[in-house]
Amino acid sequence: MERLRTDVLVIGGGLAALCAALEARLAGKEVVLACKRKAGRSGNTVLAACNISGLFDQRNDSVELFARDIVRGGEGLSDPELARTLAEGSSVLVSFLENFGVRFLREGGKLVTKLNPGHSTPRTATTLRPGIPVQTAGLSLTLPLLAAVRDLGVHVMEDLMAVDLLTGPEGVGGALFAGREAEVRIESRSVVLACGGGGRLFANSNNTREMTGDGIALAYRAGAELRDLEFIQFHPTMGIAPVPIILPTTLFADGAVLRNSRGERFLLDEHSSGEIAATRDVMSRAIWREITEGRGVDGGVHLDLSGISSRAASGRYGDLWNLLNRRGCRPERDFLTVGIAVHFFMGGMTIDADGATTVPGLFGAGEVTGGVHGTNRLGGNALAEAVVFGRIAGRSAADRAKVFRPCEALPQEFRRSPEPPQKLLPLRLELKRLLWNHAGVIRSEHTVQTGLQRLEELEKRFRQIEGFRSLQGLETGNMLLAARLILLAARNRTESRGSHFRSDFPDPVEALGKMSLRIRQGADGLQIAFGQNPLSSSLPLPRSLAFAPSPSEG
Ligand SMILES: Cc1cc2nc3c(=O)[nH]c(=O)nc-3n(C[C@H](O)[C@H](O)[C@H](O)COP(=O)(O)OP(=O)(O)OC[C@H]3O[C@@H](n4cnc5c(N)ncnc54)[C@H](O)[C@@H]3O)c2cc1C
Repeated sequence: MERLRTDVLVIGGGLAALCAALEARLAGKEVVLACKRKAGRSGNTVLAACNISGLFDQRNDSVELFARDIVRGGEGLSDPELARTLAEGSSVLVSFLENFGVRFLREGGKLVTKLNPGHSTPRTATTLRPGIPVQTAGLSLTLPLLAAVRDLGVHVMEDLMAVDLLTGPEGVGGALFAGREAEVRIESRSVVLACGGGGRLFANSNNTREMTGDGIALAYRAGAELRDLEFIQFHPTMGIAPVPIILPTTLFADGAVLRNSRGERFLLDEHSSGEIAATRDVMSRAIWREITEGRGVDGGVHLDLSGISSRAASGRYGDLWNLLNRRGCRPERDFLTVGIAVHFFMGGMTIDADGATTVPGLFGAGEVTGGVHGTNRLGGNALAEAVVFGRIAGRSAADRAKVFRPCEALPQEFRRSPEPPQKLLPLRLELKRLLWNHAGVIRSEHTVQTGLQRLEELEKRFRQIEGFRSLQGLETGNMLLAARLILLAARNRTESRGSHFRSDFPDPVEALGKMSLRIRQGADGLQIAFGQNPLSSSLPLPRSLAFAPSPSEG
């Protein structure tokens, strides 16, 4: 096994990881950035529509107002300190990114901002991306940053999947990686986990294929606390026809509307202002209802763009209109078809305002973390989060590296078995369908409980497959673990709130209003509890809400 040492190890290659690596390097530390696929060319950042929200207009906006919008969108479950940190840090994100060559859409030198649903003022900017196809617009963010990361001397290692975090008496001090050819052990003084969410655990998802919830599994096995895993954002405007790309929700502020097969604007049933007042969860459930009640169109509903002005169509949405025109669609005349897809994980590793997790030496940033968005994320806030908390985690990790040495006696060794993954593919597909059907847009005690039972069968089958410690096997093991934690979280929150909707408990429960569901691996197995603070200081699950864990939950 190859062995390396560095000050700061950054795991991931998306926006959060690149920002963390830049800051740690700028703080004078030796940095290794190790990524499962290609750095800057993998992960959800690449697919992002590049709507990025921030405090850009100090005259009409403020830290308080932005933080209040985040907390209100998150229905009280956002950590107010994290919301405030995001709002504050976002005021300099454009200058930070522009400094490294990212370009933003400006008119007369002024940043162009749009109103996005849930934000009380126009604060969503977008990047300029000459020559970059709309489907991979996020490269306009990642490629300039990757170039800067390389120029500054960060050691970038690609096609290496983090398999486990190295833990010792002083906390986390590195990670074990598996590549196609070799295993690598990287020891470090601190680690930033920035390996994104887990959308690809579900059958319908718009995430990139490597987003298999590895971060959730790595963090759990290292003893870090996870929170809010039941809150998964379903995106209501995933293109079905004519293009399978995500359509930005800013379109609704510019005049787009949704229609069912009868041409009706069904969102007016939810709110008199229709689409512009609907958060993504409300929109997703409304679409789900139209589909299940027989008023859907090819697995989705119509998106009517005829209300968009020609100025907006040729300006802000120029790339999209060109793409649609190339596919023979005239948006001023033809309807598009859009459906629901798993888009974003609100939950993840618990962090504080310094990006520190509950395990010393381990920091987190981006979609792998939880706590900023509560029950529901507002548009443009994920990219903002990746930049703001990526930078913070990179600086915190560098600070720790000044004081701590890499742990000497980290026990884990790792030997991978050869690749016989033929039997893994059907199992993975079953797992994805299981989560979609049992922990999807609408859940109940029955769906999650039967989901957990079926998951146990899959786990048994998995352990019998020869080579389950192959590269694909290790990834599948992460998927099974992450799926179990998500199902458990969905089962234990016996209320409906934000993106988590239980048909057997369709209303919010006041007592759970500010309670996030926290999970971690304790000495005696899995611990799960509601609390406002990390598990060590939170109350055990109230009796009425507790479920006896199944034997394999430890
Ligand atoms: C289609 C789409 C459009 C979106 N549009 C927007 C938008 O306009 N505005 C907005 O705010 N948000 C948007 N989002 C959300 C946003 O893009 C993501 O939340 C954000 O980019 C996440 O950044 P990240 O750096 O945390 O993770 P990612 O960009 O997902 O990167 C994760 C990285 O970790 C690596 N990795 C994964 N597992 C491992 C492992 N085991 N070992 C090593 N490396 C690993 C991956 O290869 C990848 O490089 C969109 C999401 C999607 C799917």
